[in-house]
Amino acid sequence: MNLSKEDIVRLLVTEDEGERSSLIAESYRTKVSRRGDKVYLRGLIELSNRCRKDCLYCGIRSSNKAVERYELDDEAVVSEAMFAFRAGYGSVVIQSGERNDRAFTSRITRLVRKIKELSDGRLGITLSCGEQSYDIYKEWREAGAHRYLLRIESSTKSLYEKIHPADSRHSFEYRLGCLGFLRDAGYKVGTGVMIGLPFQTPENLADDLLFFKRIGADMIGMGPYLEHRQTPLYAYKDMLLPKSRRLELTIRMIALLRILMPDINIAATTALQVIDPMGREKAVMAGANVIMPNMTDSSKRGNYQIYENKPGVGEDAEITKSNLESNLAACGIGIGWNEWGDFDTAGVPAGRECRVPGQDGNA
Ligand code: SF4
Repeated sequence: MNLSKEDIVRLLVTEDEGERSSLIAESYRTKVSRRGDKVYLRGLIELSNRCRKDCLYCGIRSSNKAVERYELDDEAVVSEAMFAFRAGYGSVVIQSGERNDRAFTSRITRLVRKIKELSDGRLGITLSCGEQSYDIYKEWREAGAHRYLLRIESSTKSLYEKIHPADSRHSFEYRLGCLGFLRDAGYKVGTGVMIGLPFQTPENLADDLLFFKRIGADMIGMGPYLEHRQTPLYAYKDMLLPKSRRLELTIRMIALLRILMPDINIAATTALQVIDPMGREKAVMAGANVIMPNMTDSSKRGNYQIYENKPGVGEDAEITKSNLESNLAACGIGIGWNEWGDFDTAGVPAGRECRVPGQDGNA
């Protein structure tokens, strides 16, 4: 269904309860008719919190000296991936702070190959390791990763620039260009934004949804912005909407996105759970169909906090698994065990918007 920017803004801010309920009901109906009523699980492995970037909202930004840095060894990553495989999760997501050095990029290639080999090609692999060159994305794709998550965080350049340092390491244009590289390299491309940022307007959020549609994203992960004390953006905490409002806006963004893009994968992100213990389940009832339970060793989870009060810190993967299963069962939500849960389209070529000036991915 086509929604205009004006329609989206109105549905994001309406206080008419009837209109709000119709939106959620329509979105859920759309999801069930196009994608079924199951959710797909992607076991999340937080490989390392070392990062070369300094995003102004992020708790693990390179200038935060209060964070204890860690890096999982290969054995731990492979064993967490195999736990997810045996648990029937179908896929894993390997997430890390951004690094471009060859030791890091080769390590990811090796890990992807190893996990594919041990699972006989059956475990799907999503990577979320930041901005890289086209050649590195291609190398990881050829090793066996088939989805990549790179959130644009805000598709409005002026807002993006307010939440990132003004230097060449944090270029809006390069981030957009990376989304083009990923498409050219043959990935299912995932992106997303934060909702409830200081300076953000409902019009910015409407533009984000229209941006996802324009670039033909395959997967979207959107979560409420959660402030972190050890970041520069915390100075604007008094401008923020109450957390309950940020949660509500996120649920409505998910519902609107499902109506705009009925076939894509939409994640119910962990940040929702920080505001409401049943936040992810509510997102599923509003149109989301992917959940990423944390598989990371419980002793390391506390150090990967982009925002504060991350849930499940100290919990091991087995407990995360059983809590999630019982919450989903209580809401009558089924799980697509051992399925990748991709939808089958040829995707769309990256448009001009997703091009780094002077660089062409597949040239
Ligand atoms: S948001 Fe990502 S790229 Fe930015 S500092 Fe945090 S981990 Fe690094």
